[in-house]
Amino acid sequence: MADKEIVRARFAPSPTGYLHIGGVRTALFNWLFTRHNKGVFVLRIEDTDKARSEKVYLDQILEDLKWLGLHWDEGPHFQSQRFPIYKKYAQKLLDEKKAYSEGTAIILRVPQKPFRFDDIIRGPIEFAAGSFKDQVLMKSDGTPTYNFACVIDDHDMKITHIIRGEDHISNTPKQMAIYEALGFSLPRFAHIPLIVAADRSRLSKRKGAMPVSYYREQGYLPEALFNFLALLGWSLGARQEIASKEEIIREFTLERVLKTAAAFNPEKLEWMNGQYIQQLDTKRLTELIAPFLIQKKYINKDYDKKKLTEIVELFKIRVKKLSDFPELADFFFVDKIEFAPEAKTFLQKKKNTKDIFTKLIAVLEKIDSFDIKTVEDSCRDLIAKEGIKSGDLIHPVRVALTGKRVGPGLFETMAALGRERVSARLTQALKLL
Ligand code: GLU
Repeated sequence: MADKEIVRARFAPSPTGYLHIGGVRTALFNWLFTRHNKGVFVLRIEDTDKARSEKVYLDQILEDLKWLGLHWDEGPHFQSQRFPIYKKYAQKLLDEKKAYSEGTAIILRVPQKPFRFDDIIRGPIEFAAGSFKDQVLMKSDGTPTYNFACVIDDHDMKITHIIRGEDHISNTPKQMAIYEALGFSLPRFAHIPLIVAADRSRLSKRKGAMPVSYYREQGYLPEALFNFLALLGWSLGARQEIASKEEIIREFTLERVLKTAAAFNPEKLEWMNGQYIQQLDTKRLTELIAPFLIQKKYINKDYDKKKLTEIVELFKIRVKKLSDFPELADFFFVDKIEFAPEAKTFLQKKKNTKDIFTKLIAVLEKIDSFDIKTVEDSCRDLIAKEGIKSGDLIHPVRVALTGKRVGPGLFETMAALGRERVSARLTQALKLL
């Protein structure tokens, strides 16, 4: 009885630029496919173009993959270290007269016949005889072409499934001609749909498609980006959007990859990130947020963990990405708050505010404890005594304390700010009225 074939797939980036949404989605699908099938995920660096390949890009690609949890089982293999192997195969094809020289370049004779393959995602694909000409294998500068190096490596590295972007479909028959000439058996091909912008136009930076490092810097969680990318061209069905890594691995098959282009919607990513943030333990979230506050010089490295956790808890449901936090919560970290223009007008438009603030300052000075309940009770008493609506106190006080029209619950905010700051800001606001 033959053993079940061990699935081997690879991600083969060229280190000529940063890893973008499309590239990392290809890496993810290869990774998911190998995890689902208990196979081997190979990383291969396609750095044959020495002039355009740069170490910064390579380092960043490796870091991005690790950040997302896409660890490889084998590699990285570097094409730049395999030139003698490509030369050897090119020589073999020359010797067998399957290729010929043109100057120092080596060119494959392509037989005039149709090339067909059965794409796992797209079904049968056929290229008519004569669709492409003889193929350069080795360029005159002694470097291999992408198609030639790719075929030799996929064969040598025993890759069973080639999962890559649809933009490579036209390369596949050219690669098939090389497989045939070398007498290698063909792997299976799965071409995944392209990613387009939300309006289905070409994906670009302006449409929100940034390098992976950008999402990390903005405070997207790797788990959220992972979940989001998995749904770019693949679906869990039943309208389910949020799924754990384990669930995605369990359900991931190439048969379920969609044939149509996947739309990249940055708002959906932001929403999803917010969902993941809400599910985080607040202590953990606080640790993740702290560097963003340190960078803004709002806190020091030896910040009060308990205090910050309390503040983070107030904002947890509003934070969409970690980098939002410093702006949402700035009034906790600065002495003098800035008023948003509409907040200031709001404060000045309201009648009675001056009177209410004066009375509230007096009330708050007298209470024994500045906890949420005591603060709330004393505010509610004042509201009742003055015969005003709750909003007549709550809204202007929020603006005076935070500089903003919206924010977390007022009494929680007041307790967290503490008596001194509350009273100082109310006094300060009186001067505006
Ligand atoms: N280096 C190629 C790319 O980044 C790899 C294509 C392939 O997977 O065959 O597009």
